[in-house]
Amino acid sequence: MRLKNKVAVVTGAGSGIGKEIGETFLREGAKVVFSDIHDDFSEIENLEGDAKYLKCDVSSASEVIDLIEKTIDLFGGIDVIVNNAGIGSLGGILDVTDEDWQKVIDVNLSGTMYGMREAAKKMKEQNKKGSIINISSILGSVGFNGALAYSASKGGVVQLTRSGALDLAESSIRVNAIAPGFIRTNMTKDVLEDDNFNAMVKSSTPLGHVGEVEDIANAAVYLASDESKYVTGNILHVDGGWTAK
Ligand code: NAP
Repeated sequence: MRLKNKVAVVTGAGSGIGKEIGETFLREGAKVVFSDIHDDFSEIENLEGDAKYLKCDVSSASEVIDLIEKTIDLFGGIDVIVNNAGIGSLGGILDVTDEDWQKVIDVNLSGTMYGMREAAKKMKEQNKKGSIINISSILGSVGFNGALAYSASKGGVVQLTRSGALDLAESSIRVNAIAPGFIRTNMTKDVLEDDNFNAMVKSSTPLGHVGEVEDIANAAVYLASDESKYVTGNILHVDGGWTAK
């Protein structure tokens, strides 16, 4: 059990990558708060281990403060946060709307910052060698046409990770990001069902196929565990080689 005695919060854990990370953390012995924007998460009842669900819209700083405080009330502390909640958005520089831009920045970028800040304050207060894991994207490292706001938000997550890691190093709190390539989830279902888009993704990925949620969850276990105790400020690309080109 690689995460025994750790308390972890995962945002956006109602589906896709976040759900898989939460379930994998549970199997590795962590106590896990699954959090998402929805009122409830019926599957929580069927999970084995110490799992709780808390509703939280990460674009609201006060809801994130509440999430961290309730986690501490439930489990006595916080060792790990995975800032995973995110939304997709299509549109390039000529057609991105102010509304779309703001929404994506509020959720993907500000939401990540709120999670980092509020978790770090409590980790420091409790003298925890915590691990903060942000979910960026290959689109945070390389350009991609037609997803301007999303790419900008994920590039911002990369820099939150690097600068946050430097700010928190003296407190022995580590900050890393995972940058997934295309992974089959609700977010990508529609685009991956498009034959042309699917073919483009496969031909752009050196390993030749899209990824699975477990590829990201396995990377998250490593970054959450003490196995990565000398790793901070790192962007771990789990992308079938997309960004190696
Ligand atoms: P997903 O299946 O849509 O899961 C994201 C979850 O976050 C959903 O349950 C979503 O609820 C929730 N959410 C949306 N807005 C929220 C908010 N304001 N506060 C809290 N929760 C919120 O997508 P996913 O593919 O697993 O994505 C997870 C993360 O991985 C995202 O940050 C995404 O950008 C990143 N990522 C994904 C891929 C990929 O190929 N799938 C690649 C690179 C990076 P709703 O369903 O109601 O929106």
